[in-house]
Amino acid sequence: MMNNKKSISSIELTVTDIKQYFFCPRVIYFTYCMTLIRPTTTKMEFGKQSHKREEGLQKRRSLVKYQLIKGERRFNLRLRSERLGLVGALDMAIFTRREAIPVEFKMSARGLSLNHKYQLAAYAMLLEDELFVRGKPRVICRGPLKPRRYVRRGFIHYIPNRRVYEIEITPNMREHIKRVLGEIRQMIATESMPEANRRKNRCRDCEFARFCADIT
Ligand code: SF4
Repeated sequence: MMNNKKSISSIELTVTDIKQYFFCPRVIYFTYCMTLIRPTTTKMEFGKQSHKREEGLQKRRSLVKYQLIKGERRFNLRLRSERLGLVGALDMAIFTRREAIPVEFKMSARGLSLNHKYQLAAYAMLLEDELFVRGKPRVICRGPLKPRRYVRRGFIHYIPNRRVYEIEITPNMREHIKRVLGEIRQMIATESMPEANRRKNRCRDCEFARFCADIT
């Protein structure tokens, strides 16, 4: 168990952790505190293949679905922020003269969910830090870079029904992400197992279900 503040803040987290935390905090407990448990499900493999296929399709399509005429698309961007202690691999970013726009592809057909929204917000913050906090533009985009507010929205693209949702990245969302990162680190550092998810329908879809004793 970690016992000082410095060790807690040095825990590097991933954007997927944020998504999982909104799904069920106990998933994070299993991921970090019971590291021998590492499920790889057929669903995860299927998801990876679908993302790859979507990337191929995107390269041939216009940007109409994102209400854009022009833009440079980059795929699988590996992003890191020292400020946030966060890393992640973003499916796609569109760079225009005025904006950098994160896009996440999802295999779910259930529609927009909170965990996907906050995952996108975390990618937006990472993208912003990669572009601006280090003070100079990286090779991930061309053209002039403007103030930090450059990343102000993103899209979640649901592959099965081809629906695209535009999400505004608000200051409140950014603050909430920072709070959540603190809560996750605290949980990992103290190795405290959170309550089981009250929404039992989530347990049915959870890759940790067979390790989780409290589900009914
Ligand atoms: S099985 Fe249910 S309670 Fe357990 S980690 Fe998964 S979602 Fe959470």
